[in-house]
Amino acid sequence: MQQNAYGNLVAGEFRTSGSGESITDINPADTREVVATFPSMTEGEVKEAVEAAADAFPGWRRLSPVARGTYLFKVAGLLRDSSETIARSITREVGKTINEARAEVANTANFFEYYAGFGRQPQGDQLPDERAGVFTYTKREPLGVVGLIAPWNDPLLTTARKLAPALISGNTVVLKPALDTPLATWHLAEILSEVALPPGVVNTVTGSASTIGDVLLEHPEMRGISFTGSTKIGRELARRAGERGNFRIQTEMGGKNATLVLSDADFSKAAETIMAGAFAQGGQRCTATSRVVVTEDAHGPLMEALIAGAESIRVGNGLEESTGMGPLANEGQLDKALRAVEQARQEGGSVATGGSRLREGSYQHGYFFPPTILDDVSPEAQVAQEEIFGPVLSVITAGNLEEGVEVVNNSSYGLSASVFTGSLAAAHYFAQNAEAGNISVNLPTAGWSVHLPFGGFKDSGSSFKEQGREGLQFYTRVRTVAMNVSPG
Ligand code: NAP
Repeated sequence: MQQNAYGNLVAGEFRTSGSGESITDINPADTREVVATFPSMTEGEVKEAVEAAADAFPGWRRLSPVARGTYLFKVAGLLRDSSETIARSITREVGKTINEARAEVANTANFFEYYAGFGRQPQGDQLPDERAGVFTYTKREPLGVVGLIAPWNDPLLTTARKLAPALISGNTVVLKPALDTPLATWHLAEILSEVALPPGVVNTVTGSASTIGDVLLEHPEMRGISFTGSTKIGRELARRAGERGNFRIQTEMGGKNATLVLSDADFSKAAETIMAGAFAQGGQRCTATSRVVVTEDAHGPLMEALIAGAESIRVGNGLEESTGMGPLANEGQLDKALRAVEQARQEGGSVATGGSRLREGSYQHGYFFPPTILDDVSPEAQVAQEEIFGPVLSVITAGNLEEGVEVVNNSSYGLSASVFTGSLAAAHYFAQNAEAGNISVNLPTAGWSVHLPFGGFKDSGSSFKEQGREGLQFYTRVRTVAMNVSPG
């Protein structure tokens, strides 16, 4: 194998593929650098991964939840020990800054640690029965083999958000990383091997998304898929899962998150928070702030602070400690940002700052694009409706709180929303009327800890939440048992 060629963890060993084909993991800060290559697995090899997970299921399920939790605690520890190595790989394959990557590894460890603790929590309830002497209880039990499909933007974190609850509940797993970020998952697989997780409990698969997707949807051993990614793919997977019947599907999808700024807000605090929400990770977060809705009297001072903030962000290679925003993750992301700016101009919007690709000097070999603010955007404009998933923030004006909430809700998405206000009444009005699964007040739209239930409304999510105690529900079914075993 060449030096940066990696294999997939299947049935406890790292395997290459008989296909002879590979996928290439490129550094978006310098596209001349091949970070890694991974096998493009054949349909038969993906099926072997599912079968390895099916073979491992009875043993993993039988293990006590406390013992399963012990594995997860060890994974958390090793993630922290290898944080710097893993963070550097994440930065090299997806472009985010090294500090963002370090935070991702830390939060990934938090997911394993948090769910490990559920190994010692009740697995069901003991319930009264109307019949004398009958002992009745419920027990949450695993589904079987589940497929986990992750996007590239938080490759390790999004995976852990699914993998940790799946494993503590007793499921076995086939894990598909995104084409752009297989290396982060490989590091995790290496740690799973190091803690001697029984062979087949977690298997990784790389290659053609449609080949892998077909096997995960159709293999008779599969019991469900948890997907995070675009609304388009998520809906298609949900449609096909529905046709199969008796198959769980969880879809965490796109967002067009808005922050409403009212006239009584602290503008400099609002601007600073919006900057972080909009431009951290180059806006490539499902919860990134994509729209700012501001009352007319607040528009001037807020814009001034937003533009100054955006122009102070240093764009560069994420491995440099002083970089504030890295490159976009791939060429498609760059094209989307450029198209959004062009679209905004055609729709009567104006570019307040940014808007063009950065090409000079150290930018020449990467997908660099500056923090961009679009002003005078109409709530109906395409740029205000479609997810860009990049560092492009649209500013929209509204008359007052009620009108502002209408603009926030004028979206097919409903992932997260926030309001900046000094009024408790306005804060409560917003919390009750904004149509989003995650609401914050005087805080960013992004940044939800592992123990907080997370998931979108409308086209952003499905009925199963991730994170927190709720995150276990997707991975378990409830059995009710009534026993008439009283003596005599
Ligand atoms: P994407 O194109 O939908 O891909 C997501 C994952 O699905 C990738 O692993 C992709 O594989 C895989 N995939 C694509 N087609 C498939 C198929 N036919 N069968 C099975 N898997 C398939 O989304 P993305 O561009 O990677 O990620 C950005 C999107 O994710 C944005 O819309 C963002 O809002 C959303 N997101 C949502 C959340 C949330 O929690 N709500 C969090 C993060 C991101 P390949 O990479 O190999 O194509």
